[in-house]
Amino acid sequence: QRLANQIAAGEVVERPASVVKEVLENSLDAGASRVDVEVEQGGTKLIRIRDNGVGIYRDDLALALSRHATSKIVDLNDLEQINSLGFRGEALASISSVSRLTLTSRRSDAEDENGWQVAVAGQEMTAEVTPAAHPEGTSVEVRDLFFNTPARKKFLRKEQTEFNRIDEVVRRIALSRFDVHLSLRHNQRTVHQLHAASSLQEKQRRIGLLCGPAFLEHAVHIDIEAAGLRLWGWVCLPTFSRSQPDQQYFYVNGRVIRDKLVSHAIKQAYRDVLYGGRHPAFVLYLELDPALVDVNVHPTKHEVRFRDQRLVHDFLFRSLHKALADVRP
Ligand code: ADP
Ligand code: MG
Repeated sequence: QRLANQIAAGEVVERPASVVKEVLENSLDAGASRVDVEVEQGGTKLIRIRDNGVGIYRDDLALALSRHATSKIVDLNDLEQINSLGFRGEALASISSVSRLTLTSRRSDAEDENGWQVAVAGQEMTAEVTPAAHPEGTSVEVRDLFFNTPARKKFLRKEQTEFNRIDEVVRRIALSRFDVHLSLRHNQRTVHQLHAASSLQEKQRRIGLLCGPAFLEHAVHIDIEAAGLRLWGWVCLPTFSRSQPDQQYFYVNGRVIRDKLVSHAIKQAYRDVLYGGRHPAFVLYLELDPALVDVNVHPTKHEVRFRDQRLVHDFLFRSLHKALADVRP
């Protein structure tokens, strides 16, 4: 069983950033309104994620670390309307098979005054549950990632590169969950401290913190709705010259995606209205009926397939065209 976990770990746990992604998504699944992420040495030494979500019952702690015990898919029809982020039920099991993992949690509705903790180190399933001090919510601590799989460890890049990937995971989530307070620390240094944002002004502030003040200065805010589709967010005018690499974030129903059709529609709108040729920067959110989009095309879930591609393409093109034409310099 543990071996099976390690093999599965290859699929889920490629590097520290994949651990952060899975654990952070669990926190969001648990309804957390605040998640604090702390990492050391690019996440290879330590990844600690604490949330204030619903928590885990004492009796479910060991179960949470066992493979497939918790898969949320009960039948194939569920695939049609998956809203919850995780559905494979194996991330924690996989991570724990290639690290020293401690899971500590406390339910708000449990009778105990304290929380409970379970620790697993690689192959050793000494999953004994012990009492531990913890506020309502869950902490996952992952130490010494790949300590027992040296071959995998060799594939890790240098500390800053691994950290940058973690940072990108956190940014992507921060840009889609304005309602959640998020923080990120690396080697005791605060990298992000993002308060929950509800008003447009607060959201813009978060955009400024994540994409830089220059991005905001050159950005147009858009919010257009038609035929059951809504596109909102920020697009930068070509006056914005990027110092950072690609700042292109596109979300479909809260999920970040990369899609040829989407890129094409955006590029075409830019080319049509503006000078063209440049690489646009944007943070955009497309919202539509979940039945009109298939999110299970690819296991990493960065791809989607729209039922009506033409409708989506035209909507994106027209919306952006209008927004950009309105402010044409
Ligand atoms: P999945 O999320 O696909 O179900 P995971 O291995 O990621 O599988 O998590 C296993 C289970 O552990 C979850 O289904 C959930 O019940 C529980 N769990 C994990 N993290 C948390 C958390 N932060 N808060 C509450 N429950 C959690
Ligand atoms: Mg999960």
